[in-house]
Amino acid sequence: MAGIEPLAQGDLWPPDLSAWAGGNDGTGFVHRFHSGRPGPHVVINALMHGNEYSGAIAAATLLAAGIRPVRGTLSFVFANCAAFAQFDPGFPIMSRYVDEDMNRVWSPASLTDGADSVERRRARELWPLFGTADLLLDLHSMQHDRIPLMLCGRSRRGCELARRVGLPGVIVADPGHAGGSRLIDHPRFTEGADGPVALLAECGQHWDPVSAETALAVAARFLLVSGVVEAAALRPWLPSAEPSPPRLVEVTETITVTSERFRFLKEYQGMDVIPTAGTVYALDGGVPLRTPHDDCVMIMPSRRHADRGHTAVRLGRFGA
Ligand SMILES: [Zn+2]
Repeated sequence: MAGIEPLAQGDLWPPDLSAWAGGNDGTGFVHRFHSGRPGPHVVINALMHGNEYSGAIAAATLLAAGIRPVRGTLSFVFANCAAFAQFDPGFPIMSRYVDEDMNRVWSPASLTDGADSVERRRARELWPLFGTADLLLDLHSMQHDRIPLMLCGRSRRGCELARRVGLPGVIVADPGHAGGSRLIDHPRFTEGADGPVALLAECGQHWDPVSAETALAVAARFLLVSGVVEAAALRPWLPSAEPSPPRLVEVTETITVTSERFRFLKEYQGMDVIPTAGTVYALDGGVPLRTPHDDCVMIMPSRRHADRGHTAVRLGRFGA
């Protein structure tokens, strides 16, 4: 299940999304439902990365169950279906994207400049919908880590919404990537004191069946908190009790690879805590990288794709 080997029998296999390909709103793989009553536009997005289909299983399950808004508008989006269509169980990590990482193209400049790729074309097709979202949940999964996380970006309102959603139990407040803007980092969701909010859920390891259950539970809690879907309709996927308050990890540093030879000194699983400041944890082109403070949390360390210019790990500390 490390992700480099072919998919095995007990792994999470990709869903059949053919029933949702046509969409209901003029855009492929987009389903938008209007309640006819006032309320927010709530968006559940899946498949930003083509190999992260636990969120697609969650969205397809909610669609198939007939989850509809009782107020406002509810949209389900399968974003990078071109990459997902290339999924090969013999090489399961290969379908993250076609031309470029779709979750690095969401700055206003990237959405309007002339640069072209499969992902940018799809992003420009989807932005008219995302650009009207009041509450957006972007469902992802991770290469190695099994502890699910809610990324709330840097906005206070993102952190507050993540606390109300309560799942999956750990909130990471982070500034994003040097390599480009995530959807949740678009100014629509980050600028000003008040306004639309977007969260990114990392639901566990890509091919761990638990990640689909986590994606469903997080999406159900998100819809419950949004107020557009009635609690009774979400009951099959909601936890039986109110979740306990999540832990907050504030990212203190995002480590971007600067050389062709980056390696961690040991295999980190994600959410490992290094107790002592100054501990060397990686070498970037032979230069030792040290933890900047005590009790340093290793958030989503990459192992294979730590290429130059990409994020190798975020360092953080547990907050109040
Ligand atoms: Zn992802």
